[in-house]
Amino acid sequence: MSGQEQTTGSQDPVQVSVVAPVYNEQETLEELYARLTATLEKMARPFEVIFVDDGSTDGSLDILRRLRDRDKRVRVLRLARNFGQSAALYAGLSASRGSMVFIIDADLQVHPEDLPLLLERLESGADSVSGRRRDRQDSRFRRWASKALNWYIGWVTGAPLHDFGCSLKGFRRHVVDAMVAMPHRCRYLPAEMALAGGRIDEVWVSHSERTRGASKYGLLKLVRTAFDLITGLTDAPLRLVSVGGVLFSLAGFAMFLRVLWVRLTHGNMLQVESVIALFFLFSGVQLLAIGLLCAYIGRIFIEAQGKPLYIVREELE
Ligand code: UDP
Ligand code: MG
Repeated sequence: MSGQEQTTGSQDPVQVSVVAPVYNEQETLEELYARLTATLEKMARPFEVIFVDDGSTDGSLDILRRLRDRDKRVRVLRLARNFGQSAALYAGLSASRGSMVFIIDADLQVHPEDLPLLLERLESGADSVSGRRRDRQDSRFRRWASKALNWYIGWVTGAPLHDFGCSLKGFRRHVVDAMVAMPHRCRYLPAEMALAGGRIDEVWVSHSERTRGASKYGLLKLVRTAFDLITGLTDAPLRLVSVGGVLFSLAGFAMFLRVLWVRLTHGNMLQVESVIALFFLFSGVQLLAIGLLCAYIGRIFIEAQGKPLYIVREELE
């Protein structure tokens, strides 16, 4: 069907939306469009593809304009500047109209051809589905860091996923609506997906090396993103301070008892040990005091995020 004028056909409500964030991806956009539309046509449901241009400074926007002119199933949102991948995704999700919504990176590292696998899961009753990259083609450092982060995010969110960072995901409409409606700004899409609830599936998908364009995540940005994740999802790190305070206090107290015992039975022998015991005791008390402050700061953090207390999916008739 390529090459001819395409229309969504307003009589068909869009069933499938695909959102792709684009930041300087001129090398892959044409191929992404061709492979996406070919796959979506095979899926045989009215669809829209929403490209979100996240302030690209290369030729991406011109290519997107051309794609939009050629095919009315393509929508292009142009953000006012570069807001980051997460914000771009949310812009696309808010604009989406489908009863099932998918996200995909624009660099073709994950493959449009895997979308039917995700669709199948949503149609079999999953509310959200996430890809899990088979033979992930990223540096050893990134894979190692991802492993640690996946463990942490799994623990914090309780979602049963092994690859939170996979950029191929699908959601039912109610999940998208719940995610978009959340008021907090410190966003991490997989966490909001978990908070929205329902059945979350994971399917194996293929992954390729990035052969065109460059990753938008250099070492510094990766570290920053990881730090944002660790501190942005939960106040658990703050609570660690109190744990440290309790451990130091207990250790100091045990040492103090030992010093006291030796002093009563053998006289004043353990002078260095007395100082060490005092050091532990004082550190423990100070950490406990800071831990108390952290507890209050943690509460402010939770209140400020304003995440929903609960989400009602429906009232049964
Ligand atoms: N992206 C974006 N805004 C940004 C950074 C990235 O929209 O500020 C898009 C980018 O164009 C790509 C996706 O997010 O479609 C993932 O980026 P990238 O492939 O560079 O990340 P990596 O695969 O290295 O994690
Ligand atoms: Mg990539």
